[in-house]
Amino acid sequence: MAEQNTIRVIDIIFDTFVDGPGMRTTVYCAGCRHFCEGCHNPQTWKFDQGTAMTPEEIMAAILEGSPSSNITFSGGDPLYQVEGFAALAKLAKENYDKNIWCYTGFLYEEIVADARLRQILPYIDVLVDGLFVLAERDTSLSFRGSRNQRLIDVPATLKNPDGVIVPWTSWW
Ligand code: SF4
Repeated sequence: MAEQNTIRVIDIIFDTFVDGPGMRTTVYCAGCRHFCEGCHNPQTWKFDQGTAMTPEEIMAAILEGSPSSNITFSGGDPLYQVEGFAALAKLAKENYDKNIWCYTGFLYEEIVADARLRQILPYIDVLVDGLFVLAERDTSLSFRGSRNQRLIDVPATLKNPDGVIVPWTSWW
């Protein structure tokens, strides 16, 4: 796993349209221990690969490669390196007003119940949560691979006093 506040980055892909709405830059990190059967990216599972980058270095690369794009965190599972991704999300949100999507194999309920994991939530616009489940695979879905995964409107859900999850529907 990366040292606190650095992220092991496998790749940064610019100008993609598949990891959320509109043109986005996707940061692919190393490391996942969910080991979903049928995972689309098993080559990302090992933690000791890629390049260790600080949130500031990643932000600079994003701005240089595609200044106006919004941002998606993927992997691997970004929440295994939550300290670094929370710092990156805070930087991107507060300094550059980016819309931020984050993919994770953890469930929202697990994240919100864990002080370490939930530190990222205030800076995330949409969380795509849950394991990839082969039996629930559906290639007609937008922005997710299996029907059990949810597109969660995080700001609206955090504001909900009863904690009921608000699904993301559309930007427009
Ligand atoms: S959570 Fe994502 S990256 Fe991790 S094993 Fe499952 S599908 Fe693959």
